[in-house]
Amino acid sequence: MTNSYGKCYFCKRTFSKKGMTRHLQSCSKRNNILETSSANKSIKKVKIFHIIAERNDYLSDYWLHIEAPATATLEELDNLLRDVWLECCGHLSLFRVEDDLYFSEPDENWEQEDMRIELSNVLSLNKKFYHEYDFGSTTYLKLKIVSENDGEMKDSSMRIIARNDPPPIMCSYCDKPATEICTECLWSGEGCLCDDCAKKHKCSREMFLPVVNSPRTGVCGYTG
Ligand SMILES: [Zn+2]
Ligand SMILES: [Zn+2]
Ligand SMILES: [Zn+2]
Ligand SMILES: [Zn+2]
Repeated sequence: MTNSYGKCYFCKRTFSKKGMTRHLQSCSKRNNILETSSANKSIKKVKIFHIIAERNDYLSDYWLHIEAPATATLEELDNLLRDVWLECCGHLSLFRVEDDLYFSEPDENWEQEDMRIELSNVLSLNKKFYHEYDFGSTTYLKLKIVSENDGEMKDSSMRIIARNDPPPIMCSYCDKPATEICTECLWSGEGCLCDDCAKKHKCSREMFLPVVNSPRTGVCGYTG
């Protein structure tokens, strides 16, 4: 597997996937913000979770570090994942925490739970949990809370604090970087196209999707 790199949103420096968790715990820009807010007695403190989300397979070159108040809901986390990574045509999604499932649109006949539940009610430090978007062409994510801090954060605010750089996807037919994916050919393990090969490609352009920085690149109608 290639080494994956990404950027810290506080200091804009680049770190490896492994190094980023450690860096964020010691990033002076981030700590300044956390300390200023925790020193100010007039601001109400909340518990803030540091969450890592990544694609749940061998190709986990797509990853996000997220800061979320413990009072935020699974629904808000679902919305954030949809906004930056997943949303193509409003598919259903779910979170799995141990044996419990939480659905974006629960089916009452099956007594399914919805996502309007606070993170602190179902999650805790170092606990792994899972997310699935689209029960047909599913994008699988795994998530984990790697640390908690006390600081100032508005109830409904949740933010990305680090993200992977776009992993290189090479053209299936030459050695240039791919910019488009032919979803027709992707089934047979090919179909990544550079600009030149895209022009010569035999399939209809309607089958093409752009290469985007998301674990859902090339899936369903996802265009970023
Ligand atoms: Zn930093
Ligand atoms: Zn779709
Ligand atoms: Zn090519
Ligand atoms: Zn094709």
